[in-house]
Amino acid sequence: MALAAELFPIPRSITGPGARETLEVVRRRIPLDVVEVPSGSPALDWTVPAEWSVREAWLEAPDGTRLADYAENPLQLLGYSVSYDGVVSRDELLEHVFTLEDRPHAVPYRTAYYTERWGFCLAYDVVRDLPDGDYRVHIDTTHHTSGSLSYGELVVPGRSDDEVLVSTHICHPLQANDNVSGIVAATALAQHVLSAPRELTYRFVFVPGTIGSIVWLSRHRDAADRVRAGMVLTALGDPARFVYKQSRRGGRWIDEVVPAALAAAGVEHEVRAFDPYGYDERQYCSPGFDLPVGRLSRSTHAEYPEYHTSLDDLSFIDGASLAASVGVLEGVVDLLEHDRCWRSTSPYGEPQLGRRGLYRQIGATIDAKARELALLWVLSGADGSTPLREVAQRSGLEFAALRDAASLLHEHGLLADPALPPA
Ligand code: ZN
Repeated sequence: MALAAELFPIPRSITGPGARETLEVVRRRIPLDVVEVPSGSPALDWTVPAEWSVREAWLEAPDGTRLADYAENPLQLLGYSVSYDGVVSRDELLEHVFTLEDRPHAVPYRTAYYTERWGFCLAYDVVRDLPDGDYRVHIDTTHHTSGSLSYGELVVPGRSDDEVLVSTHICHPLQANDNVSGIVAATALAQHVLSAPRELTYRFVFVPGTIGSIVWLSRHRDAADRVRAGMVLTALGDPARFVYKQSRRGGRWIDEVVPAALAAAGVEHEVRAFDPYGYDERQYCSPGFDLPVGRLSRSTHAEYPEYHTSLDDLSFIDGASLAASVGVLEGVVDLLEHDRCWRSTSPYGEPQLGRRGLYRQIGATIDAKARELALLWVLSGADGSTPLREVAQRSGLEFAALRDAASLLHEHGLLADPALPPA
């Protein structure tokens, strides 16, 4: 929550000082590389936009009351608004104002990245009773064509080149669940991954939504080819049940691993099939790349009334929910690290465990019997193509028990050739 509180007020956008400051805050926790990509650079079918910065933006009613001020609340300025300075009538103003009639206290979060327009976002309560008269508009922004788009990347090398991709967006201003919580969860997960040697290579990317993942993909076709599993993280700070959205084709390794980790954590969750609406999974799963990348969230975009409004503030998220989300993600990493297809070196009949000191002694404890059962399950699944996770599911035993049994059998030479399940 301390990191969330630090990130929350930063006036983020897809480019500019807010995105850069966000990456800087994250970089104080994990050794992130910050990459700048010049505005105008081509990226797949897109072009990196001009960098946006705001000097000042405010709106005054005919009586001089300030109705909006970027310095007070950056959410009140339409994201990427062009400059405008002048006096407009009430009717003219209303063509440039966004409100939510059904949530009259809330300020909506709106952007106009790829069109040239000016605008403000206001609570409907403020707009409803505005009198006729002269409204003073002052918006002083710059679209720097010689600017850049910033993204952050951290690669944690493992023993294998096979990669796990973790992606989160960094572009929403003053949005706690749909943005800050994802950045916090990805940062905490990176700290966990950094805390021990790893089998797989982990790549964390902190990118502005859509254009950021498109830019990353356009420059990392080689790394994309090595991705065996991936997750987009967002909206992980509220107490709602978890929602895992499968990768485009479903049935891939990550699509098995995340639900298994959610079940192991004993948390309420729902698994949904892919649809082409949402966050950066749309880009990673586009048919050319076809990466095995799913998405983990709690409250899902556009399905909760606080979504993309001033109501998605720090009071909407809590430390216990964030911590539980990070716990699930650590469980995902444990599965990715240890879910392997093992091959028995003695597959014809059961190997003689007693001879190796692995079989029950007289008066064995319950623990010893459970351990022995785990050994038998692992051996019976060691056909070279059954993932250990699947053996855990069939046996009803905890994955950790099978993971430990597999490592014991491996030490005794009874298991060989641990292979990644097909991605
Ligand atoms: Zn959003």
